[in-house]
Amino acid sequence: MTIIIDGKTIASQLRTELTEKVKNMSVKPGLAVVLVGSDPASDVYVRNKAKSTKEVGMNSFEYRLDASTSEADLITLIQDLNNKEDVHGILVQSPVPSHIDYEKIVETIDPKKDVDGFHDENIGKLVNGREGFVACTPLGCLKLLKTVIPDLSGKKAVIIGRSTIVGKPMSMLLLNESCTVTVCHSRTQNIEEECRSADILIAAVGKAKLVKKDWVKPGAVVIDVGINRNEEGKLVGDVDFDDIKDIAGAITPVPGGVGPMTIACLLYNTVKAAEAF
Ligand code: NAP
Repeated sequence: MTIIIDGKTIASQLRTELTEKVKNMSVKPGLAVVLVGSDPASDVYVRNKAKSTKEVGMNSFEYRLDASTSEADLITLIQDLNNKEDVHGILVQSPVPSHIDYEKIVETIDPKKDVDGFHDENIGKLVNGREGFVACTPLGCLKLLKTVIPDLSGKKAVIIGRSTIVGKPMSMLLLNESCTVTVCHSRTQNIEEECRSADILIAAVGKAKLVKKDWVKPGAVVIDVGINRNEEGKLVGDVDFDDIKDIAGAITPVPGGVGPMTIACLLYNTVKAAEAF
Protein backbone atom coordinates (compact mmCIF):
# COMPACT_ATOMS: atom_id res chain seq x y z
CA MET A 1 0.00 0.00 0.00
CA THR A 2 1.48 3.33 -1.04
CA ILE A 3 1.25 6.04 1.62
CA ILE A 4 0.03 9.39 0.30
CA ILE A 5 1.92 12.01 2.29
CA ASP A 6 -0.76 14.58 3.05
CA GLY A 7 1.12 17.89 2.95
CA LYS A 8 -2.04 19.88 3.57
CA THR A 9 -2.74 18.17 6.90
CA ILE A 10 0.91 18.14 8.00
CA ALA A 11 1.24 21.85 7.15
CA SER A 12 -1.98 22.59 9.02
CA GLN A 13 -0.59 20.78 12.12
CA LEU A 14 2.58 22.88 11.93
CA ARG A 15 0.53 26.08 11.62
CA THR A 16 -1.52 25.07 14.67
CA GLU A 17 1.70 24.52 16.68
CA LEU A 18 2.98 27.92 15.54
CA THR A 19 -0.30 29.63 16.48
CA GLU A 20 0.03 28.25 20.03
CA LYS A 21 3.67 29.32 20.21
CA VAL A 22 2.94 32.84 18.94
CA LYS A 23 0.20 33.28 21.60
CA ASN A 24 2.78 32.74 24.32
CA MET A 25 5.55 34.89 22.89
CA SER A 26 6.46 38.26 24.38
CA VAL A 27 7.03 39.72 20.89
CA LYS A 28 4.59 39.38 18.03
CA PRO A 29 6.53 37.98 15.06
CA GLY A 30 6.32 40.13 11.92
CA LEU A 31 6.96 39.18 8.30
CA ALA A 32 7.56 41.80 5.60
CA VAL A 33 6.93 40.66 2.04
CA VAL A 34 8.09 42.87 -0.80
CA LEU A 35 6.64 42.55 -4.30
CA VAL A 36 8.08 44.59 -7.15
CA GLY A 37 5.82 44.73 -10.20
CA SER A 38 2.53 42.97 -10.86
CA ASP A 39 3.35 39.43 -11.97
CA PRO A 40 -0.02 37.63 -11.45
CA ALA A 41 1.49 34.41 -10.01
CA SER A 42 3.69 36.41 -7.59
CA ASP A 43 0.66 38.46 -6.57
CA VAL A 44 -1.20 35.27 -5.59
CA TYR A 45 1.85 33.97 -3.66
CA VAL A 46 2.20 37.26 -1.76
CA ARG A 47 -1.51 37.34 -0.88
CA ASN A 48 -1.41 33.72 0.34
CA LYS A 49 1.70 34.39 2.42
CA ALA A 50 0.11 37.47 4.02
CA LYS A 51 -3.13 35.58 4.76
CA SER A 52 -1.29 32.62 6.34
CA THR A 53 0.90 34.98 8.39
CA LYS A 54 -2.14 36.70 9.90
CA GLU A 55 -3.91 33.39 10.52
CA VAL A 56 -1.19 32.24 12.91
CA GLY A 57 -1.42 35.55 14.79
CA MET A 58 1.68 37.25 13.35
CA ASN A 59 2.02 40.71 11.83
CA SER A 60 2.10 40.85 8.06
CA PHE A 61 3.60 43.85 6.27
CA GLU A 62 3.12 44.01 2.52
CA TYR A 63 5.16 46.32 0.31
CA ARG A 64 3.86 46.46 -3.26
CA LEU A 65 6.20 48.50 -5.40
CA ASP A 66 5.85 49.69 -8.95
CA ALA A 67 7.74 47.66 -11.60
CA SER A 68 9.82 50.77 -12.35
CA THR A 69 11.21 50.94 -8.77
CA SER A 70 14.97 51.39 -8.93
CA GLU A 71 17.41 48.92 -7.41
CA ALA A 72 18.71 51.70 -5.14
CA ASP A 73 15.21 52.44 -3.79
CA LEU A 74 14.58 48.75 -3.17
CA ILE A 75 17.88 48.48 -1.29
CA THR A 76 16.89 51.50 0.83
CA LEU A 77 13.58 49.82 1.70
CA ILE A 78 15.36 46.59 2.70
CA GLN A 79 17.80 48.55 4.88
CA ASP A 80 14.83 50.26 6.58
CA LEU A 81 13.19 46.88 7.17
CA ASN A 82 16.47 45.51 8.58
CA ASN A 83 16.27 48.26 11.22
CA LYS A 84 12.59 47.86 12.09
CA GLU A 85 12.03 46.18 15.45
CA ASP A 86 8.59 44.80 14.57
CA VAL A 87 9.89 43.11 11.38
CA HIS A 88 11.57 39.76 12.12
CA GLY A 89 11.48 38.25 8.64
CA ILE A 90 11.99 39.83 5.22
CA LEU A 91 11.19 38.22 1.90
CA VAL A 92 11.50 39.72 -1.56
CA GLN A 93 9.24 37.83 -3.94
CA SER A 94 11.05 36.59 -7.04
CA PRO A 95 11.19 37.18 -9.92
CA VAL A 96 12.06 40.88 -9.69
CA PRO A 97 12.15 43.09 -12.83
CA SER A 98 15.27 42.56 -14.94
CA HIS A 99 16.85 45.92 -14.06
CA ILE A 100 17.17 44.72 -10.45
CA ASP A 101 19.92 42.30 -9.37
CA TYR A 102 18.03 39.81 -7.17
CA GLU A 103 21.24 38.39 -5.63
CA LYS A 104 22.30 41.87 -4.55
CA ILE A 105 18.87 42.42 -2.93
CA VAL A 106 19.08 39.11 -1.06
CA GLU A 107 22.57 39.98 0.21
CA THR A 108 21.17 43.29 1.55
CA ILE A 109 18.73 41.46 3.84
CA ASP A 110 20.02 41.07 7.40
CA PRO A 111 20.88 37.31 7.58
CA LYS A 112 19.02 37.19 10.92
CA LYS A 113 15.85 38.25 9.05
CA ASP A 114 16.49 36.14 5.93
CA VAL A 115 13.57 33.75 6.47
CA ASP A 116 13.82 32.52 2.86
CA GLY A 117 17.30 31.17 3.70
CA PHE A 118 18.82 32.49 0.45
CA HIS A 119 21.51 34.77 1.96
CA ASP A 120 25.09 33.49 1.48
CA GLU A 121 25.57 33.49 5.27
CA ASN A 122 22.63 31.12 5.78
CA ILE A 123 23.68 28.91 2.87
CA GLY A 124 27.17 28.76 4.40
CA LYS A 125 25.70 27.75 7.76
CA LEU A 126 23.69 24.99 6.09
CA VAL A 127 26.81 23.68 4.36
CA ASN A 128 28.69 23.73 7.66
CA GLY A 129 25.80 22.06 9.50
CA ARG A 130 25.33 25.12 11.73
CA GLU A 131 22.04 26.64 12.89
CA GLY A 132 20.64 29.22 10.45
CA PHE A 133 17.70 29.69 8.13
CA VAL A 134 17.05 26.94 5.62
CA ALA A 135 15.12 27.61 2.39
CA CYS A 136 11.44 26.89 2.99
CA THR A 137 10.77 24.35 0.21
CA PRO A 138 13.62 21.94 1.05
CA LEU A 139 12.90 22.39 4.77
CA GLY A 140 9.27 21.45 4.08
CA CYS A 141 10.39 18.42 2.05
CA LEU A 142 12.57 17.26 4.96
CA LYS A 143 9.68 17.61 7.41
CA LEU A 144 7.41 15.62 5.06
CA LEU A 145 10.06 12.92 4.61
CA LYS A 146 10.48 12.54 8.35
CA THR A 147 6.79 11.70 8.74
CA VAL A 148 7.48 8.45 6.89
CA ILE A 149 11.22 7.89 7.61
CA PRO A 150 12.01 9.42 11.04
CA ASP A 151 15.67 8.32 10.85
CA LEU A 152 17.16 9.12 7.45
CA SER A 153 20.68 8.01 8.34
CA GLY A 154 22.25 5.73 5.72
CA LYS A 155 19.44 6.12 3.18
CA LYS A 156 20.31 6.64 -0.47
CA ALA A 157 18.73 9.92 -1.65
CA VAL A 158 18.58 11.12 -5.24
CA ILE A 159 17.53 14.68 -6.03
CA ILE A 160 16.63 15.70 -9.56
CA GLY A 161 17.40 19.43 -9.93
CA ARG A 162 20.29 21.55 -8.67
CA SER A 163 18.69 24.98 -8.22
CA THR A 164 19.79 27.29 -5.41
CA ILE A 165 16.28 27.38 -3.97
CA VAL A 166 15.49 23.66 -3.96
CA GLY A 167 18.02 21.08 -5.23
CA LYS A 168 21.25 22.35 -3.68
CA PRO A 169 19.91 23.14 -0.16
CA MET A 170 17.97 19.86 -0.24
CA SER A 171 21.20 17.96 -0.92
CA MET A 172 22.91 19.66 2.05
CA LEU A 173 19.97 19.00 4.39
CA LEU A 174 19.98 15.31 3.49
CA LEU A 175 23.75 15.06 3.76
CA ASN A 176 23.48 16.61 7.23
CA GLU A 177 20.96 13.83 8.02
CA SER A 178 23.66 11.29 6.99
CA CYS A 179 22.01 10.26 3.74
CA THR A 180 24.14 9.27 0.75
CA VAL A 181 23.16 11.95 -1.74
CA THR A 182 23.25 12.12 -5.52
CA VAL A 183 22.15 15.28 -7.34
CA CYS A 184 20.97 14.85 -10.94
CA HIS A 185 20.41 17.59 -13.51
CA SER A 186 19.93 18.13 -17.22
CA ARG A 187 23.40 16.75 -18.06
CA THR A 188 23.16 13.62 -15.91
CA GLN A 189 23.71 10.39 -17.83
CA ASN A 190 21.57 7.32 -17.16
CA ILE A 191 19.25 9.36 -14.99
CA GLU A 192 16.62 6.62 -14.75
CA GLU A 193 19.23 4.23 -13.37
CA GLU A 194 20.44 6.83 -10.83
CA CYS A 195 16.86 7.43 -9.69
CA ARG A 196 16.08 3.72 -9.50
CA SER A 197 18.85 3.32 -6.91
CA ALA A 198 17.15 5.77 -4.50
CA ASP A 199 15.41 5.00 -1.22
CA ILE A 200 14.33 8.65 -1.34
CA LEU A 201 13.67 10.37 -4.65
CA ILE A 202 13.09 14.11 -4.78
CA ALA A 203 11.99 15.68 -8.07
CA ALA A 204 12.51 19.45 -8.42
CA VAL A 205 12.71 19.94 -12.15
CA GLY A 206 9.72 21.79 -13.57
CA LYS A 207 8.87 19.16 -16.22
CA ALA A 208 5.40 17.67 -16.01
CA LYS A 209 5.29 13.93 -15.27
CA LEU A 210 9.00 13.41 -16.09
CA VAL A 211 9.42 10.67 -13.48
CA LYS A 212 7.80 7.40 -14.55
CA LYS A 213 7.39 3.96 -13.01
CA ASP A 214 10.75 2.64 -14.30
CA TRP A 215 12.59 5.51 -12.51
CA VAL A 216 11.39 4.38 -9.09
CA LYS A 217 12.70 1.60 -6.86
CA PRO A 218 9.80 -0.39 -5.36
CA GLY A 219 9.06 0.99 -1.89
CA ALA A 220 10.96 4.28 -2.40
CA VAL A 221 9.66 7.51 -0.88
CA VAL A 222 9.01 10.06 -3.61
CA ILE A 223 8.74 13.79 -2.92
CA ASP A 224 7.38 15.80 -5.84
CA VAL A 225 8.34 19.48 -5.70
CA GLY A 226 7.32 20.31 -9.27
CA ILE A 227 4.46 22.63 -10.08
CA ASN A 228 3.48 22.48 -13.74
CA ARG A 229 0.30 23.09 -15.71
CA ASN A 230 -0.83 20.40 -18.12
CA GLU A 231 -2.73 20.97 -21.39
CA GLU A 232 -6.04 21.31 -19.51
CA GLY A 233 -4.55 23.92 -17.17
CA LYS A 234 -4.51 21.46 -14.25
CA LEU A 235 -1.62 21.51 -11.74
CA VAL A 236 0.65 18.49 -12.08
CA GLY A 237 3.99 17.57 -10.55
CA ASP A 238 7.29 16.37 -12.00
CA VAL A 239 6.25 12.83 -11.13
CA ASP A 240 3.66 10.80 -13.01
CA PHE A 241 1.61 10.14 -9.88
CA ASP A 242 -0.78 7.57 -11.41
CA ASP A 243 2.07 5.65 -13.03
CA ILE A 244 4.13 5.22 -9.86
CA LYS A 245 1.51 5.22 -7.14
CA ASP A 246 1.46 1.43 -6.79
CA ILE A 247 5.27 1.12 -6.79
CA ALA A 248 6.39 3.86 -4.42
CA GLY A 249 6.31 3.27 -0.67
CA ALA A 250 5.09 6.83 -0.15
CA ILE A 251 4.47 9.83 -2.37
CA THR A 252 3.47 13.48 -2.07
CA PRO A 253 0.57 14.59 -4.30
CA VAL A 254 0.50 17.76 -6.41
CA PRO A 255 -1.31 19.85 -5.36
CA GLY A 256 -1.50 19.22 -1.61
CA GLY A 257 2.03 17.97 -0.96
CA VAL A 258 5.11 20.19 -0.86
CA GLY A 259 3.29 23.46 -1.68
CA PRO A 260 1.41 23.90 1.62
CA MET A 261 4.56 22.92 3.58
CA THR A 262 6.59 25.66 1.89
CA ILE A 263 4.35 28.41 3.27
CA ALA A 264 4.13 26.73 6.70
CA CYS A 265 7.96 26.63 6.82
CA LEU A 266 8.11 30.33 5.99
CA LEU A 267 5.98 30.97 9.08
CA TYR A 268 8.17 28.54 11.06
CA ASN A 269 11.30 30.46 10.03
CA THR A 270 9.69 33.80 10.94
CA VAL A 271 8.75 32.56 14.41
CA LYS A 272 12.32 31.28 14.81
CA ALA A 273 13.66 34.71 13.78
CA ALA A 274 11.41 36.46 16.32
CA GLU A 275 12.42 34.00 19.07
CA ALA A 276 16.08 34.85 18.45
CA PHE A 277 15.38 38.59 18.49
P1 NAP B 1 14.95 25.49 -11.84
O1 NAP B 1 15.73 26.56 -11.18
O2 NAP B 1 14.45 25.70 -13.23
O3 NAP B 1 15.84 24.16 -11.81
C1 NAP B 1 15.43 23.01 -12.49
C2 NAP B 1 16.49 21.95 -12.37
O4 NAP B 1 16.04 20.80 -13.07
C3 NAP B 1 17.84 22.35 -12.97
O5 NAP B 1 18.87 21.96 -12.11
C4 NAP B 1 17.89 21.59 -14.29
O6 NAP B 1 19.18 21.17 -14.66
C5 NAP B 1 17.08 20.36 -13.95
N1 NAP B 1 16.50 19.77 -15.14
C6 NAP B 1 15.78 20.38 -16.11
N2 NAP B 1 15.37 19.49 -17.03
C7 NAP B 1 15.83 18.28 -16.64
C8 NAP B 1 15.72 16.96 -17.15
N3 NAP B 1 15.06 16.70 -18.27
N4 NAP B 1 16.31 15.98 -16.46
C9 NAP B 1 16.98 16.22 -15.33
N5 NAP B 1 17.11 17.45 -14.78
C10 NAP B 1 16.53 18.46 -15.43
O7 NAP B 1 13.67 25.09 -11.00
P2 NAP B 1 13.37 25.21 -9.41
O8 NAP B 1 13.20 26.61 -9.05
O9 NAP B 1 14.30 24.35 -8.63
O10 NAP B 1 11.93 24.52 -9.38
C11 NAP B 1 11.72 23.19 -9.80
C12 NAP B 1 10.23 22.89 -9.78
O11 NAP B 1 9.78 23.01 -8.44
C13 NAP B 1 9.36 23.87 -10.59
O12 NAP B 1 8.27 23.16 -11.12
C14 NAP B 1 8.89 24.87 -9.56
O13 NAP B 1 7.67 25.47 -9.91
C15 NAP B 1 8.72 23.95 -8.37
N6 NAP B 1 8.80 24.64 -7.06
C16 NAP B 1 7.83 24.34 -6.18
C17 NAP B 1 7.87 24.91 -4.93
C18 NAP B 1 6.79 24.56 -3.95
O14 NAP B 1 6.63 25.24 -2.97
N7 NAP B 1 6.06 23.47 -4.16
C19 NAP B 1 8.89 25.79 -4.58
C20 NAP B 1 9.91 26.04 -5.50
C21 NAP B 1 9.86 25.44 -6.75
P3 NAP B 1 20.35 22.21 -15.07
O15 NAP B 1 20.81 22.82 -13.78
O16 NAP B 1 21.37 21.35 -15.71
O17 NAP B 1 19.72 23.20 -16.00
